[in-house]
Formats: sequence, C-alpha cells, structure tokens
Amino acid sequence: MKRALVCGAGGFIGGHLVERLKNEGYWVRGVDIKAHEYRETAADEFMLLDLREAENCRRALTLGRNETFDEVYQLAADMGGMGFIHSAECEIMHNSVLINVHMTHTAAELGVPRYFFSSSVCVYPDMKLGDPEMSEDQAIPAHPDNEYGWEKLYSERVALAYSRRYPMKVRVARFQNCYGPYGTWTGGREKAPAAICRKVAEAEDGGTIPVWGDGTAVRSYTYVDDMVDGVLRLMHSDLEGPVNIGNPEYVTVKELVETVVAVAGKRVNVEWVKGPVGVQSRNFSNARIYTTGWRARYPLIEGIKRTYPWIEQQVKAARAARPV
Ligand code: NAD
Repeated sequence: MKRALVCGAGGFIGGHLVERLKNEGYWVRGVDIKAHEYRETAADEFMLLDLREAENCRRALTLGRNETFDEVYQLAADMGGMGFIHSAECEIMHNSVLINVHMTHTAAELGVPRYFFSSSVCVYPDMKLGDPEMSEDQAIPAHPDNEYGWEKLYSERVALAYSRRYPMKVRVARFQNCYGPYGTWTGGREKAPAAICRKVAEAEDGGTIPVWGDGTAVRSYTYVDDMVDGVLRLMHSDLEGPVNIGNPEYVTVKELVETVVAVAGKRVNVEWVKGPVGVQSRNFSNARIYTTGWRARYPLIEGIKRTYPWIEQQVKAARAARPV
C-alpha cells in the first residue's frame, strides 16, 4: 500500500485530495495547523502541526525507522481570496515561504522520492483579453500583480533546486481558481465563486448584492474534483517543471454571478462596488497537463450546481445558530 502525506489536509483542496487518495487505496497522513472546519478528515492519521517550524516538518515527514512516504503533497499555505491577498502581504511572504523552505529541505533530506508543490497561475502577469496564451516558461521574466504570486514563484524554484540536488522527483502545478464544496465561504479568506454563492444565498428574492469591480474581469474556474484529478495525473507523470492546471472555459465575473443566480433560481440585482479585483485577465496554456490525458470535466454551470447547495446549506445553518 502506498503511503502519502498531505500538508494542508485541513483545507479545501487538501481535504478533497485526502478523500481521493483514500479512494485510490493509499494510506494517508494529513497535516495542518487546524482541523478541517467543514468535514471529518478521511485521512488514516491527522497531525496538528505548524509547518513554519522545521522540526514540525520533520515530525510530519517521519514514519517508522528508515521509512519515508512514497508521495508528499504540499498544499499548506497562508491563503485566501483577493481581499486577503491584498491585505496580508507580510503573512504570505513570511508564513508560506517558511513552510515551503522547511518542507522541501526536510523532504529531500529524508529521501522522499516524489514531492508535489501547489503553485498558482497568480505567477503570471496581468493580461488583456485576447492576449496570446502564456506557456509555463513565459512566467519568467516575472511580473505577478501580487506578493502571493511572487511567493509561489520563489517556492517553485526552491522545490526545483532541490530536485536537481537530490534524487527527489518534484512536480509543480500552477492551479487556476478552484472552487467546490467544503471550501472557505465566509470570514474574509473566501474566493470569488464561494463569496458570490454566499451573497446570493443570503439575498432575498429580488434583493441586491454588492460585487467587487465592474464585472468585466475575465476568469476561469476549475471544479475541485477536476483539480484533484490533475494533481494525481501530474504527480504520476514524468512532467518536470511547472505545469498549469485549469479549465479553459473563460467567463466574465458578471457571467459568474449570472451562473450562480441561475442555479439559485432567484432574482438578484448586482451593485458593482470598488474592491480588490486583481488582474483583468489571465490566459495560459494547458498543453502540458493535456499530455497526461487530463481534461476539465465540469463546465462552470455543473460545478456551481454542486457548490451552491452546499454553501446555501452553510448559510442556513449559520442563520439558525445565530442568537435571536
Ligand atoms: P486552504 O486555505 O483551504 O488550505 C490551505 C491549508 O494550509 C489551510 O487548511 C491552512 O490551515 C493550512 N496552513 C496554513 N498555514 C499553515 C501552517 N503554518 N502549518 C500547517 N498548515 C498550515 O487553501 P486551498 O484553496 O485548499 O489551497 C491549497 C493550495 O493550493 C495552497 O497552496 C494554495 O496557495 C494553492 N492554490 C489554491 C487555489 C484556489 O483557487 N483554491 C488557486 C491557486 C493555488
């Protein structure tokens, strides 16, 4: 039985990845600084550890005498949507760098054979609609629009440097915006699809919701099952260097809102308000991940149909729990 370590297992994608690895027959240890907020972990073992500490990375990575994990998935990060990314630059640059420097170094020292790192398409610069697709190597010379992107770029390079020095195969995915159930939906760290689902779920029929920007920014969103599928395909491939993983269905933020409203079956008006919108557009190539046979299977509407009911249920439960 293969043994896997998932760092960030108390988080959104990490929680889904643990479930998928268990379904594939792995023995899984999950590690996070906190327990999952929305679900029981599917991991065989769960350790609460602050991975900014080198010693805790060693504890997470240590099995029995002279034994190592077959696969390590590093998804732990100080992470959130655009609001968080723009207000927590120092936390991102400090905490996520420490996690990645210590995890990569310790995994290499302990002889881990395969190491996965979750980067982001935030490493790419702001683009205009219709600009040609960027391939992975075009991220350099670099000009990410936020510190989160710079941290990812640096941590990618840390992992790739260790793969050149040690016999550790490193796989680096650049995730596009990912959404689905069991992800942060409130509190300031939620990303746009979850925030919009929450606002629509909270709105009265015929009500108005505020949304940042003017609705013209272009995005694409990957449903979490597709993302996890891409992670496993990449991990087991021989693709070296960073690999983009994303749904090629591009929509405006206005279209995202319209999709959520249609799934909710409500009449909702939008007030476009000033806020940290992020880039206007990003357009990157999926050619490398396609060589593994991976394709996004969930169009936005199908993913939202699986996400909105879960967030609506969370909104109702939170309302019911509020003191009158
Ligand atoms: P998430 O915030 O739900 O999960 C990250 C987890 O890391 C959290 O559970 C958090 O508690 C944990 N963590 C933070 N600091 C820690 C520490 N010091 N020690 C141990 N654990 C710690 O985020 P997610 O959406 O599941 O993202 C997973 C990974 O994918 C992250 O690296 C993120 O940057 C990357 N990514 C996500 C998206 C997306 O759209 N969700 C897009 C691009 C990249």
